[in-house]
Amino acid sequence: MSHDNNAETAIRDASFGAEEFFQERDGSINIGREAVDRHVEDGHSEQVALLWLGKDGARRELTYGDLKDLSSRFGSVLHDNGLKQGDSVFVLMGRVPELYACALGTLRAGMVFTPLFSAFGPEPIRTRMEIGDANVLVTTASIYKRKVAAWRDQIPSLKLVLIVGDGDVPEGCVALGPALDTASPDFDPVKTKPEDPALIHFTSGTTGKPKGAVHVHNAVIYHAYSGKHALDLQPGSIYWCTADPGWVTGTSYGIIAPLVNRVTMIVDEAEFDLDRWYGTIQREKVEVWYSAPTAIRMMMRAGAEATEPYDFSSLRFLASVGEPLNPEAVVWSEKVFGQPFHDNWWQTETGGIMIANRPGMTVKPGSMGKPMPGINAGIVEREDGTLKELPDNEIGELALRPGWPSMMRAYLHEDARYQKCFVDGWYLSGDLAMRDADGYFWFVGRADDLIKTSGHLIGPFEVESALIEHEAVAEAGVIGIPDETAGEIVKAYVTLNPDYNASDELERAVRGHARKKLGPAVAPREIVFRKTLPKTRSGKIMRRLLKARELGLPEGDISTLETDET
Ligand code: ATP
Ligand code: MG
Repeated sequence: MSHDNNAETAIRDASFGAEEFFQERDGSINIGREAVDRHVEDGHSEQVALLWLGKDGARRELTYGDLKDLSSRFGSVLHDNGLKQGDSVFVLMGRVPELYACALGTLRAGMVFTPLFSAFGPEPIRTRMEIGDANVLVTTASIYKRKVAAWRDQIPSLKLVLIVGDGDVPEGCVALGPALDTASPDFDPVKTKPEDPALIHFTSGTTGKPKGAVHVHNAVIYHAYSGKHALDLQPGSIYWCTADPGWVTGTSYGIIAPLVNRVTMIVDEAEFDLDRWYGTIQREKVEVWYSAPTAIRMMMRAGAEATEPYDFSSLRFLASVGEPLNPEAVVWSEKVFGQPFHDNWWQTETGGIMIANRPGMTVKPGSMGKPMPGINAGIVEREDGTLKELPDNEIGELALRPGWPSMMRAYLHEDARYQKCFVDGWYLSGDLAMRDADGYFWFVGRADDLIKTSGHLIGPFEVESALIEHEAVAEAGVIGIPDETAGEIVKAYVTLNPDYNASDELERAVRGHARKKLGPAVAPREIVFRKTLPKTRSGKIMRRLLKARELGLPEGDISTLETDET
């Protein structure tokens, strides 16, 4: 099969409950309409769609009717400024209500929405805006002045900069607030076609330079389907996705899936804070909670005692994504929340959840669960330009048969790289995994992170999970370093729980614990203690950076690096 045909299979149809969620209209489908107008038409205009919690304690409710009004006005602002269907709108701001109005208004107007982390530095912002041919930027005056003004003129595609918030509007920019006030609230959703581009998401940059994945309006079918069947989103559910829209989870499951499923979603402007989070769950009676291992490990670090003052009885379903979820974390959450975190696996490229511990499934701690109904996943090995599917219990690359609606349609300006992902009718994820005899998938590591030592293949996740079972260990990042005799040896970087101090004695104790759990061939030969581990802004441990630093190699693209303290 030629590469072209392989990529084409990505847009083959599959129903995924489309008929359940959407009535056939005129062949058009628009995410902005499905997320908002449909519910208003069905009489739910007064239902709270978005419950916003400001950093300073403010609390603001926006109904589906409000979202329709605001997103329509935003569409009008774009239109009045001469922008056209297909143009590209970037947002660069914290989690404020305007961000959500912009997202929905952009989609409504048939333009392409690209969210960026507000904490990015000038260079990562600029390169992404260049790659994405940005026509509009929506940001704050402060971010604009500090990070954008100096090079704005060098982005020829950029026609309009909209400024959110009060205060001075920098030269050459337009204040969004007054523009929304005077814009028309009558702006019908553009009749986009299923394959019209809707979203660009940049990958997290964990393994290298971030790629821009393009998604289309038809993706909403899969967002709706997976929101319902992987996260148990039901009309009226109180739902909290803690991810920032700057990475794909915060848009697919922090904007689109919840709204299409007509939930009331919580948006917290603030960053992680233990008491704030626990207090939010209790006060707002959160039912469905979607978070990430890095946050869960921070909760574990604070101990079960910290949860005691709170009532978590509203919680119905807990899910996690972004990194492997250590079995210890699942067991812990059952103890303190009365519910396991349900791990699920997907990527920026897949646009939606592919493998999941779905509601009602038995959770095997440490497993990502099973492929979603309708998703065909396999474990494969490359062999002379073709792929061989591996039997159960063998480690290979996790691959998917393309065909679901939220699959990426391109890597922006990187066609060769895109084509390379498709071989023999499979999409290759770049992750290594294993399927057990019950059909559960187990994450092993990124293909790049696999450690080869004395004839063994070791995935860092297994070693990290064993390490964090030690009472002193909060987080661990494991890499292989070259060794003359063994090929590679396993080295671990570890952060400690409060009340533990780094010492040779503790190092020996942790190493001894790992040897007992994993055996001498797999346990780390060396453990070093660190205050923090290098992570992406979406909270993933950057093992490639641990390795580059260990070996004195170039650090590569570090535009998404969050903590950098060693
Ligand atoms: P880049 O592609 O730029 O290196 P990235 O792969 O981290 O960055 P994302 O698309 O945000 O960018 O993340 C998807 C990856 O995150 C997956 O390929 C996988 O490696 C990891 N991941 C996501 N969910 C899980 C999970 N439940 N278990 C294990 N790994 C996960
Ligand atoms: Mg990736």
